Amino acid sequence: MRAHELVIEQATVLDGTGAPGFVGDVAVGDGRITAITGEAGRDAEREAGPGGGDGIDPGAARIDGRGLVLAPGFIDVHTHDDTAVLVDPDHACKTLQGVTSVVVGNCGSSVAPMTEGGFGGTGFDRMGDYLAALDDRGPAVNVAALVGHGTIRTAVMGLRTDRRPDAAERAALLELLTGALDDGVVGLSSGLAYEPGRYAASSELIDLNRLVAEAGGIYATHMRDEGDELLASIDESIEVAEITGVPLQISHLKASGRSNWGTVVEALARIDAARARGVDVMADHYPYTRGSTLLEQVVRAGALDGPSPFGHITPADVLICAAPGHPEWEGRTVAAIGDDEGIDGRAMADRIVEAEGRRCIIVIDTMSEDDVRLVMGHEAIMVGSDGVPGGSKPHPRLHHTYPRILGHYVRDEGLLELADAVRRMTATPAERFGFTDRGEIRVGAHADLVLFDPERILDTGTWADPTAVPDGIVGVWVNGDRVVDGGAVTGQRPGVVVHRGS
Ligand SMILES: [Zn+2]
Repeated sequence: MRAHELVIEQATVLDGTGAPGFVGDVAVGDGRITAITGEAGRDAEREAGPGGGDGIDPGAARIDGRGLVLAPGFIDVHTHDDTAVLVDPDHACKTLQGVTSVVVGNCGSSVAPMTEGGFGGTGFDRMGDYLAALDDRGPAVNVAALVGHGTIRTAVMGLRTDRRPDAAERAALLELLTGALDDGVVGLSSGLAYEPGRYAASSELIDLNRLVAEAGGIYATHMRDEGDELLASIDESIEVAEITGVPLQISHLKASGRSNWGTVVEALARIDAARARGVDVMADHYPYTRGSTLLEQVVRAGALDGPSPFGHITPADVLICAAPGHPEWEGRTVAAIGDDEGIDGRAMADRIVEAEGRRCIIVIDTMSEDDVRLVMGHEAIMVGSDGVPGGSKPHPRLHHTYPRILGHYVRDEGLLELADAVRRMTATPAERFGFTDRGEIRVGAHADLVLFDPERILDTGTWADPTAVPDGIVGVWVNGDRVVDGGAVTGQRPGVVVHRGS
């Protein structure tokens, strides 16, 4: 038996599987969960010692969990934290909301191979170089990486090549993907609403995903269109999975644009139908009606001029999160900035793109609350923040996704059972991405844990003050080391690179 270094006592334990909670003690040693005591009848896989099952060292540090919930640390399956975990390894935006692992490289954009970075990143020649840099740096959270289709395509064909790859280009795409899979990525992501993803035909994605499927990876897609063509995009995504056998993860499922509200009903029905015939498809979501992305891509997709993959948006709907060259624009709408400059909002959008390029991150108001709730409760849905680090006014989902679901939607609105909501943040994502020893509280699993007050947990971030600390997160442990203590980071950085099967 390993030494128990830490015991969290008498918390209500939600093990991540969706099973009802029980009051018990959880012991940790050498970065793993070493013992669990508590509810009778659940001790089969636990080390039950004499005297009520407390086989725990008297010398262990003890934390009083009475009245609190102990859950596996949350796994954020949809992030753009690629660079943030290197430049700000405490990664408070995530740890302070209970997140212990992040999946980076989403929406077709990763920091390797051979790139200057998509969502504001610095590039690496190979994914292996990036993962090695993470190992060196040691962030507070665990990190698993996807390689971006858009990144690979840009490296081979440039950002704006609107045609199919020729034979030599096809071979180069496959070679870069193979390299990334060999280096330890957990799969491939695409961003088909963006450049260069939108120039890729389904056949290109099928080609690449055959390799991903062979390697046991996952395919996560920001679909071609989340507006008028949402259903065609669902069909395209499912077709890629059905033909190649790759597990499909539909990213941030939503219907964008008022005229498309309600289409998620049919989108979910098509996902259900595919699952019923054996296609491995699931999706993730974040709990807000507003989205966030790059202004340059929204403008280039024509979203300010008519229907687009992002829906039809007006300059008054666009809030600036990050504009590194013009911080005075952050927190304001494009329409309001245009008013100040004496030009109309549409022209102002072009001027901002000219000044900031791909560094300008925005929030756009696109979804309906009914749709968000319907998606949240569907059986094939898990949670991913889609937070985009950068600027002074990031979308609050970056700092508050998990407390918002557990406080607002679970406790206050009664939309989901607490154990079910936790499952969608822990065991289900772990299983989906192949993290065999994370996402559950069981003996032998890595000790990624969050201790929270179910009566107090809540998102506190607003559009004006999105980086506030969420309420109710008492403690967070990554691989057994405490990274959050009562609303503040501790400076410990025990995170590791996570691969499939670890
Ligand atoms: Zn996306």
